[in-house]
Amino acid sequence: MTVKGDMVYAWTTSCDIHGECGGAVTALLQYALSSGMVDAVLAVCRGADLYDAKLELITDPAQMPKSAGSLHCGTLLSAKMVKKYLGGAREMKIAVPVKGCDAMAFYELAKRQQINLDNVILIGLNCGGTVSPMVAREMIADKYAVHPDAVFKEEIDKGQFIIEYTDEGGAHQHKGISIEVLEEGPEGYGRRQNCQRCKCKVPRQADLACGNWGVIGEKAGKATFVEVCSEKGAALLDAAVSAGAVAVCAPEPKGLEIRGKVESAMLKLGDKNRAHQFGELGEGRERLERIMRLSSRCIACRACIENCPICYCVECSTAKPHLVRPGQVPPDFMFHLIRFAHIADSCINCGQCQELCPMDIPNALFMHAQQVELEKMFGHRPGYDMTMPVLAFAEEMDERARLSATGSDMIFDNVFNE
Ligand code: FAD
Repeated sequence: MTVKGDMVYAWTTSCDIHGECGGAVTALLQYALSSGMVDAVLAVCRGADLYDAKLELITDPAQMPKSAGSLHCGTLLSAKMVKKYLGGAREMKIAVPVKGCDAMAFYELAKRQQINLDNVILIGLNCGGTVSPMVAREMIADKYAVHPDAVFKEEIDKGQFIIEYTDEGGAHQHKGISIEVLEEGPEGYGRRQNCQRCKCKVPRQADLACGNWGVIGEKAGKATFVEVCSEKGAALLDAAVSAGAVAVCAPEPKGLEIRGKVESAMLKLGDKNRAHQFGELGEGRERLERIMRLSSRCIACRACIENCPICYCVECSTAKPHLVRPGQVPPDFMFHLIRFAHIADSCINCGQCQELCPMDIPNALFMHAQQVELEKMFGHRPGYDMTMPVLAFAEEMDERARLSATGSDMIFDNVFNE
């Protein structure tokens, strides 16, 4: 019987599934659906091209194979989608493949009662980082001297961003360049800035954590390393193996060791990138002035708010005329202060507020820098468990009712006085 903490190599037994590393993830999701463990799978599928990923709600198990494969340019707010369009999984059971930041968003929304995690199976994917689609296209043309449309597969392996493409003569070729070299250059190539700072590489807060690190020997490239992270994950893996949907074997001891070493090297790199990127922001007054200067490009389009997985307030304070004057461009700095006050303790560094900012304001860098400072002060580490941040102890509507009933202007006073 499988239990939490077990580790196995796993692969699909179906020849219809052409997975990234043996297809175990697709087979597990397909089994969860066909066995009735879940009503639907919110899968990540290829969109318009290789650089485009889209979420698709799959209810027919026969449709699962189309979601197989890793899309390294895709980063999608699956948790926000579940909250916004699937009723927070209150009425349906859903399985979702999640990278670290996706898993963190599920936890932050769950602790705010916006998602019912009991109804969600999170299949975690180890993630060394993703590359923005625009950056990927530019980088491939510039550094690889290959037309981005000629690429039919991209992957990040052994520290390299590797492309497979068809050359002018119709032959298949492949080329890899070290991620470190790409990221050191002045062009801003390589992984997204937030991914460079990420330290959630193996998402153990999911039910299973799956990845290719540590798969060596004859199974290399043909199986996925699965770490069982919860009883729910153990039950799914057990049932899928018993039903013959997934096959497993013990991992190579050397593979275990390699996986540990790679993870710890990635975490060290995350620390190095944090030190560098936060260092460039300066400290204290200098940091504030820099944030104010760069934020003055803001056109108040609200993309940072719409796309933040933590923003869930029913009435957004940034839309209140007594706090932020309507119609001002750039908006009063209070607009950004409100966002910082509401989010900074819980920022999961998904990077969406920066990625989707039409004015290229490094919003995620600002927010993440503050989160790291707040974590040092209050010890709250967002996205890993159901521990509440200080301010989330108050329900927003209750808090507003209290303020209006008492005439108090001391927001969250009840929390701090408890
Ligand atoms: P498959 O059966 O091919 O299923 C893959 C699943 O991933 C599908 O359900 C699909 O919907 C989902 N998916 C595809 N793209 C995304 C995306 N962008 N976001 C969320 N879900 C997605 N493993 C490591 O050990 N080290 C790494 O550094 C690493 N980096 C990764 C980076 C990304 C962006 C992704 C998506 C995966 C990464 N993996 C990494 C995991 C690895 O590539 C395989 O996905 C894993 O081993 C499972 O293989 P499989 O054949 O069982 O999956």
